[in-house]
Parts: sequence; C-alpha cells; structure tokens
Amino acid sequence: MIQLKSAREIEIMARGGQILAAAVHLAERDVRAGMTTLDVDRMVEEFIRSHKGAIPSFKGLYGFPASVCASINEEIVHGIPSAKRTIHEGDIVSIDVGVLFDGYHTDSATTIAVGDVGAESLRLLEVTRQALDAGIAAAQPDNHIGDIGAAVQQVVERAGFNVTRDLVGHGIGTTFHEDPQVPNYGKPKRGIKLSAGLTIAIEPMVMIGSHKTRQLSDQWTVVTADKSRAAHFEHTIAITAQGPRVLTRLAA
Ligand code: MG
Ligand code: MG
Repeated sequence: MIQLKSAREIEIMARGGQILAAAVHLAERDVRAGMTTLDVDRMVEEFIRSHKGAIPSFKGLYGFPASVCASINEEIVHGIPSAKRTIHEGDIVSIDVGVLFDGYHTDSATTIAVGDVGAESLRLLEVTRQALDAGIAAAQPDNHIGDIGAAVQQVVERAGFNVTRDLVGHGIGTTFHEDPQVPNYGKPKRGIKLSAGLTIAIEPMVMIGSHKTRQLSDQWTVVTADKSRAAHFEHTIAITAQGPRVLTRLAA
C-alpha cells in the first residue's frame, strides 16, 4: 500500500535527509586507500549518531549487521563492512546509507573513485550519476513509475552500459522499504501514476557488462555475474506539485 506523506512529514524527511547527505559527503571526502570497509562503517555511524534523534537505518534491518553497505568494484550492493576488507588504490567503492530521524527514514548512495580508477570506471560513475538525475527529472506528478525507469535505462544503455533488473528502488517513509517498487528500467506511461506526497528512493545500479547478478555465500553481497564493475547512486525524493524535491542532497 502506498503511503502518501503530508507536507509536515516531508519536512521531517528533509531534516533527516540533510544529516544523511552530510554523512555521504563525509564518506566521499574521507574514504581513501588503506582504510577497511569497517573503518568507513564506524566513521559514518559515529557521524549519524552525533546528531540528536538520528540513528542508522540499516543496523538490524532484516538482520544486516552494520550501518552502511560498502560494495567494491564488481560488488553492486549490500556488501558487509569488514575489518578484513581493505580499500585499495584504483577501487570504486559504493557506500549506501540510511538514516532514521524522528520516525522517518531516508536512503542515499554514492560511488567513490579511490585514486586513479581508469577512464572506463570514471565514465561508469558519471553515467550512473546522470541516470539518477534523469530518473529524478522524470519523477513529476501525473507521470508514471515507468517514466522513471525508462529515463534511467535510456541514459545507461545509450552509454553502452547495463542496468540491473534484479534490484529496484522503493517507496520510503516510516518503513524503510515501502510500496511502490521503482525499477531502473521500463516503459513510459506504464505502472502507477505518480502523485504529490509520494516519497521514493531512486537508485540506478549500473554495470559495465551484463546485467546478470549473483549473490555471495554471505547471503548479502550482490555481485555482477561477469565480474564487471558496477556503480550505485541513490537519492530519496518527494514528489511535490512543483515537481521532484531531492531530500538527500546537501544544501548549499
Ligand atoms: Mg540505499
Ligand atoms: Mg534504497
């Protein structure tokens, strides 16, 4: 069931979203070669908890043991932070974070280039970022959920990359994953109609190679089946009468 949010609820999510945006920005600024993914998890968790009323959404969600998902290179999403997993020069590291603030969740992800990652990986990051922007731009009242997926898919496939079929964006609010599902592919004018008050996480997951995925034996980490690199960018947005409002972008 879709839960439309009031203006008051969206303001709460915007406040939590600013804490999340700052946490993601901290990771973008400070993640470097030599850190472990557990170091990143601790840094982000401490930052979130330093804000009164804010806690990490992920810890304990479906039993996930950490505050961030840290997914390196061919890992797409849901990598578990570990003291044994060191980040190396040339890695691309996706950091996915959620914040629960005043009863409402927000969700955001970024992919960080650590040192010199090469031209193809840089283009992967750029295209995935552009695909997210295109998806957000399509999230207009009276458009359909398929318009978002179609916009994402078009940017990705024109660049010669592929977008995941197995993992989707989602509604978000008092529950982390709410209806509707927000696929990263689709056809314009298909699916539910978008209306003001809908809050969703749009999250393209883009791979250089095949869109086929595989889950590791840790029961969490999702990797590309062909081991090609993948990137993930995500924002939580609210659809308003004036258009999409990004709740997890750092205010200038
Ligand atoms: Mg996320
Ligand atoms: Mg999400």
